[in-house]
Amino acid sequence: MARVFVITGPSGVGKGTLIRALLERVPELELSVSATTRRPRPGERDGVSYHFLSPEQFAARVAAGEFVEWAQYSGNRYGTLRSELESRLAAGVPVVLEIEVQGARQVRETMPEAVQVFIAPPSVQALRERLEGRGTDTADQIRARLLTAEAEMAAQREFAHVVVNDRLEQALEELVGIVQTELSAVG
Ligand code: ADP
Ligand code: 5GP
Repeated sequence: MARVFVITGPSGVGKGTLIRALLERVPELELSVSATTRRPRPGERDGVSYHFLSPEQFAARVAAGEFVEWAQYSGNRYGTLRSELESRLAAGVPVVLEIEVQGARQVRETMPEAVQVFIAPPSVQALRERLEGRGTDTADQIRARLLTAEAEMAAQREFAHVVVNDRLEQALEELVGIVQTELSAVG
């Protein structure tokens, strides 16, 4: 059976960076492209970074039952479309979801077999520096994301696996180890 890997943790912790490297190390994995009502950042492409939807389009797809999970985060909606998962899982392809904590909880209810990994920062200060260093968010957006991060960090004990992203290479090795162990366990 193909597996679902949920990678969660606060914004700026390095989920995207780790997942990009994970996909290179474990090429059979495919990333689910989420839908969002957030505006594209420079360089983000529709259908690649996200499926960018208007609030009306997003609401219509919620009403049509097209989401496995969705959540409100920092003033926008984000969600995983069933269409991103179904064909891959039917074809035996393991899928990675990069989602925030509320969505991870929904997946835990509906797909308890999914493997959930929480990525934690070495400190709140490091998280702040990474969000500032990434240069994609305004000061207000960074404040909002750090406020949300406090609640998210309190949720880390809910997760089967916690990887602290202090040194990137070490965190990557831990993540690759978790994924490879799970993939070999199901043959
Ligand atoms: P997320 O996807 O969780 O929001 P990103 O992958 O965009 O986070 O990473 C946020 C910023 O932190 C990026 O600029 C990235 O290069 C940097 N970063 C990621 N991992 C580390 C690390 N281990 N040490 C220092 N900086 C990191
Ligand atoms: P960003 O705006 O930085 O791209 O993403 C903000 C937050 O939304 C991140 O924590 C990211 O993991 C989360 N996110 C991205 N896609 C999804 C999704 O499909 N569902 C949920 N619940 N969260 C998502």
